[in-house]
Amino acid sequence: MQAHEHSHSHSHGHSHVAEDMLTVEEAFERIIASFSPLEPEEKSILDCLGQVLAVDVNSPLDLPPLANSGMDGYAVIQSDIKGASSDAPKMLKVIGTVAAGHVSSQAVQAGTAIRIMTGAPIPDGADTVVPFEETDEVERRQAGRTLDEINIASDLPMYCNVRPPGEDVRRGQLVLKAGTLIRASEIGVLASLGLSRVSVIRRPIVAILSTGDELEAAGQPLSPGKIYDANGSSIAAAVIAAGGVPRILGIARDNLEDMHRKLEQVAGSDLLVTSAGVSKGDYDIVKDVLTQRGSMNFWSVRMRPAKPLAFGHLNYPSQKPVPLLGLPGNPVSAMVAFEMFGRPAISTMLGRGALARPAVEGVLTGPIYNTDGRRVYARVEVEHRDGAYYANPTGPQGSNILTSMSRANGLAICPADETSKAAGEKVTIIMLDWNEEVDI
Ligand code: AMP
Ligand code: MG
Repeated sequence: MQAHEHSHSHSHGHSHVAEDMLTVEEAFERIIASFSPLEPEEKSILDCLGQVLAVDVNSPLDLPPLANSGMDGYAVIQSDIKGASSDAPKMLKVIGTVAAGHVSSQAVQAGTAIRIMTGAPIPDGADTVVPFEETDEVERRQAGRTLDEINIASDLPMYCNVRPPGEDVRRGQLVLKAGTLIRASEIGVLASLGLSRVSVIRRPIVAILSTGDELEAAGQPLSPGKIYDANGSSIAAAVIAAGGVPRILGIARDNLEDMHRKLEQVAGSDLLVTSAGVSKGDYDIVKDVLTQRGSMNFWSVRMRPAKPLAFGHLNYPSQKPVPLLGLPGNPVSAMVAFEMFGRPAISTMLGRGALARPAVEGVLTGPIYNTDGRRVYARVEVEHRDGAYYANPTGPQGSNILTSMSRANGLAICPADETSKAAGEKVTIIMLDWNEEVDI
């Protein structure tokens, strides 16, 4: 690996690289060790999408609560239709109708039937439902005859088309375990049990702070020498996508007063994500201030983009310390470092464990290069065709080129100990997102 270092002669040279470079896995382990699931909160089920159940949910009822019909048809006693066929139908007297949501006041007795709709409770006495299609109901209607009686044209087994009580869920049964991720179907299950509120692990509040004298907020005029703050917005969006609640603090200038003032607003957050000011060649203000206010580590991570990384805790009097993830300033570096370290920290606090994106094996369609022995995460657009994945590099791979990140839905890996991956070679691709719009 050292052999590759000479090709990039940064101002800070080789020495620190050898000293304190961490692998992605080492940095990940050190960061994730600081996080655990947050406390529960009780809230409306519709507000819980993407959160994790904090408690076991046992059913307060049988589901369905009563035996009910699985078809529109006739509720009958099975022994009354024994031997029925289209040639030799069995005639039953129709004594009433029952719709879903209503309970029949009548019971089915020998020789009788009750017309029943899907979901309606099975009347007393009945044990089987004969669908309309197995009767002469349609013929009768077309002939203008009454439905006072009905011919049953088939011999169905006992309990046919009857959904027994508790078929889906029994009263007292454990339906959803603590730790279950709540998706639309879980919200449906909770509603079907009659539960409108539930206890879930709360979402982490993630303070987001951009640092740098050069930054201007989008929507403001841009004066000479300035650039717009991309990271504040991209990281806030990535925090939301990861299930956190962003607390956007804006921009801190590279001076002590401004940094301290912004950091005061961090108290009570579950995580602070900063960007910029943590690389070796920078003004040391950010690093100094962070170090004054807590315990910080400044690392070089053996990855490209996103080599400089800070992690530590800030102390607040009479409040819990706030973990701090200091991302590099370059916009792609910030996003990739957040992806590798910030997102799993958030998913851990959400009770989902440290989530990694799914990876696929695919074929590169253009080369990616590794100039200095770091693991390269190259921006690629992943295509699935003819049963294989293809990774198309999205263009310039500089850590400042955010548009090539925008065109990418995956990161193709060139391992630290390989100098390149050529077109046609197999690579591992981390899927940042999947294209859900599939042409049929
Ligand atoms: P630094 O980590 O402070 O050395 O910054 C590295 C590069 O990222 C510099 O070119 C900065 O201007 C740029 N940069 C820092 N913060 C941001 C940001 N919030 N949005 C866009 N570019 C940034
Ligand atoms: Mg800076």
